[in-house]
Amino acid sequence: MKTLKAAAAALSLLACTTTSFAQAWPTKTLTWVVPFAAGGPTDAMARDIADKVAKQIGQQIIIENAGGAGGTIGAGKAAKANADGYTFLVGHLGYMAAAPSLYKKLTYDPVKDFEPVFRFPDTPLVLLVPKASPHKSAADLIAYAKKNPGKVNFGNAGAGSTSHLIAALFESKAGIDVVSVPYKGAAPAMNDLIAGQVDAMFDQTNTALPQVAGGRLVALALTSKATMAQFPGVAPLADKALPGFEAATWYGLYAPKGTPKDVITKMHQAYLKALGDKAWTQKMADQGIRLLPEAQYAPDAFAKHTAAEIEVWRRVATDAKITID
Ligand code: ASP
Repeated sequence: MKTLKAAAAALSLLACTTTSFAQAWPTKTLTWVVPFAAGGPTDAMARDIADKVAKQIGQQIIIENAGGAGGTIGAGKAAKANADGYTFLVGHLGYMAAAPSLYKKLTYDPVKDFEPVFRFPDTPLVLLVPKASPHKSAADLIAYAKKNPGKVNFGNAGAGSTSHLIAALFESKAGIDVVSVPYKGAAPAMNDLIAGQVDAMFDQTNTALPQVAGGRLVALALTSKATMAQFPGVAPLADKALPGFEAATWYGLYAPKGTPKDVITKMHQAYLKALGDKAWTQKMADQGIRLLPEAQYAPDAFAKHTAAEIEVWRRVATDAKITID
């Protein structure tokens, strides 16, 4: 009897701890790992979303920039973080979908080591060249690269980053041979592009726009199928240069495997509430960011998307012969 009573007491204590954890979360500052340098498109989007989610959950969210190897270093670090609901990873199609097909040794498994929390809106990319570039269109750049194999340098955010993968896809579809110049994020790559140290780069619309609008860079083409009001006179690659070409970056928040379900639900709910602010979503749309139907932001839909994209990139990497040395 005594033992039974003790067991019951222990059980109710356990139940109490679990509920009070669930009710109390979050009691301290959260960290979102961004595996690229500050000032790039992932960082900018993560900071904006973190700021809005933080207001909903009533706790600060700190962004930790952990760049290198196309995001795989930061992702590996986040995979090993405590699954206590206080550390998250901002993931994208590179290190959470393409990496298993590109890297021989990966310190994490995008599916087995993480719980999807919510998907961000998508972002198309822009083909950029420096102001003084001799290439005035995507067709010009392709024609020049065809005549001069290995002469055109493309800056990117690291091996397997979106900027690298989309450039590799472009290279394969155009039948050209360009040189990849990796950085620890799109921000340092962009600085060198502005300075004319590299010849071209694909960057996401949200960070490309201010540079193009400010006249520091020229946009040659878009990876979206349709034109964008934010980039007047800039044609989609699919229009003339590369029929059928279409690409966009997807992002989302992941938690280390084992993070309490309740935390994931609360984070997702907080994000949906934040998205109810139409002035904010309009601001994102003005940067060329593509909002999604609400159901696609959900953890289960994001899990399915991640798994499907791993397969998509397995095919793309093989077909386009994308490799990482
Ligand atoms: N997301 C970018 C890329 O993969 C990198 C960055 O945000 O700095 O190209």
